[in-house]
Amino acid sequence: MADIIELLPDSIANQIAAGEVIQRPSSAVKELLENAVDAGATEIKLIISDAGKSLISVIDNGKGMSETDARMAFERHATSKIKKIDDLFSIRTMGFRGEALASIAAVAQVEIKTKRSEDELGTYIEIENSNVIKQEPCACANGTTISMKNLFFNIPARRNFLKSNAAEMKHIVEEFIRVAMAFPEIFFSLISNEQQVFYLEAGNIKNRIVQILGNNYNAKLVAVNEQTDYMNIYGFVGKPEAAKKTRGDQYFFVNNRFIKSAYLNHAVNSAFESMIAKDSFPSYVLFIDIDPAQVDINVHPTKQEIKFEDEKIVYAFVQAAVKHALAQFSIAPSLDFTLNAEIQNLDAVRNPFTAEKKEAATSSNLYKTFTGKHQAHKIDPNEKSELSHWKDFFTKKEDKIEQQNVQITKSPETLILQSLAKFNNTYIQLLNTYIIATNTIGFILVHQQHAHERILYERFAAQSHSKQPSTQKALFPLTIELSTADAVLLEDLLPDISTLGYQIELFGNNTFIIQGTPADITQGNEKHSIELLLEQFKHFSSEIKYSKREKLVRCMSRQHAIKAGTALTQKEMQTLLEDLFLCSTPNVTPSGNPTYIEFKEGYLDRLFSKM
Ligand code: ADP
Ligand code: MG
Repeated sequence: MADIIELLPDSIANQIAAGEVIQRPSSAVKELLENAVDAGATEIKLIISDAGKSLISVIDNGKGMSETDARMAFERHATSKIKKIDDLFSIRTMGFRGEALASIAAVAQVEIKTKRSEDELGTYIEIENSNVIKQEPCACANGTTISMKNLFFNIPARRNFLKSNAAEMKHIVEEFIRVAMAFPEIFFSLISNEQQVFYLEAGNIKNRIVQILGNNYNAKLVAVNEQTDYMNIYGFVGKPEAAKKTRGDQYFFVNNRFIKSAYLNHAVNSAFESMIAKDSFPSYVLFIDIDPAQVDINVHPTKQEIKFEDEKIVYAFVQAAVKHALAQFSIAPSLDFTLNAEIQNLDAVRNPFTAEKKEAATSSNLYKTFTGKHQAHKIDPNEKSELSHWKDFFTKKEDKIEQQNVQITKSPETLILQSLAKFNNTYIQLLNTYIIATNTIGFILVHQQHAHERILYERFAAQSHSKQPSTQKALFPLTIELSTADAVLLEDLLPDISTLGYQIELFGNNTFIIQGTPADITQGNEKHSIELLLEQFKHFSSEIKYSKREKLVRCMSRQHAIKAGTALTQKEMQTLLEDLFLCSTPNVTPSGNPTYIEFKEGYLDRLFSKM
């Protein structure tokens, strides 16, 4: 049998979205798992030590490599998956850039053992710093085992930049789940520090979802299945009652590749509209199969974002397919269900995908994006732009209000505190959201939720810096079970969460015991409240300028603030105002929204005089 790997000519190599392929252990995990899938393996085992910092090993029973290919595989732009530019439009494999193994060999000590079934002996190669140290024939099983040791051993700055083991492990589990979910017909296992984390027997999609997301999903899944000439969509959505307070269980795959798409996520959410609470998220695992010429997977170095040639069709299709599924299972019998109208009237759906159209696609915009200009960029979040974003956000708010001629108070807060004593002790609550309090020089309009958020923020922040956070012990310790991804996140947050007064212990198997909660929050549904906290934390997690603790403090104060729309008694309003003006920065929420607006006499006079 011939060798299959070739170097891509520069003309193609230069059109491939460049970027850093290996940023952290989980990026290597993703690339190695995908290579095993591309090699046609039916069994793939991932072995990790120290969250991938000391060892990542992937063992597959796929087609293996010849001796020459095994050596060639580590060259940059060496791939067996594409040969010419047109191949970019019919990619059915996970990889195609020929960069992963080269990148891995540049930053770790790599050992590979590989053997094709037709060969008697396999090949063993050791590479370090991109240099081959050893190469010899070896007796080994069919398939490929790649082990990478001591990631970034030769780039200490990068190594130091890696996060805690719990944090890196969380990313690894995420990537593992994304690949395992997409290929239920393949056996996958994950062993971390000699402990079995996942053991996923081959099966169908439904089996795989339940294996990964938990047994409680079994009775809560609704099948989605629509086929047209343009695209197929299949998979499962959770019944409305399975909607979660955290966004965790949402998976989209396009031609078996996990993708992130706020746009498609919106399509699913809108299909669930009015069936689930506003603050909850539907669960879904959905697969879209579409002609590869209709998507550009070359816009992002890690291929997690893709571009559809026609996004609108895909959106309408996803939304209608989910509505249809929910309606068929008579979860929403009276739903106005519009699959036929919406989808079948689309030209692209009515008319099958012809050779002629394929021709057109190659001269399309999509094709043209394969030029230098549109190549993906490194995903280095820029701290500076982040900061100015917040600043803009704040000053813009202020500008807007000033344009409306309402003054945000700039007088010393102490003055207001003093004059508060002179408030005539009755407060008016407007729309169950605003509080009007008067004093001798005018009145203030307080936003109750913003005000309370500020109060809680300063309390939690102070707590988190005190040696003895105040905790209320639970009478009966509560156990909660989380999804694997949430459990890994919570474990990572435990040290910081405890400074806030939570007493939570890891019990094992994604289960935690809650022994106590912060003294400042009302007890109630602790499981719900922790799920909510994790969800809000995830929204924050791209904000790099805040520490984990600061993010937690912000999330908790937002979460536990009295909501707009809550009726308050006189006493409650009084306490809220007093507490507010005892804060060190009473006039804004931590994120910069005003907590109150002051209306002074002079300003009121102006309002009532002719311009
Ligand atoms: P790509 O996957 O983009 O082609 P990689 O650097 O990941 O680039 O791999 C280079 C080549 O090495 C692949 O095209 C494939 O031919 C070969 N290869 C990599 N991993 C495996 C594996 N586990 N089994 C068989 N062949 C592999
Ligand atoms: Mg690859």
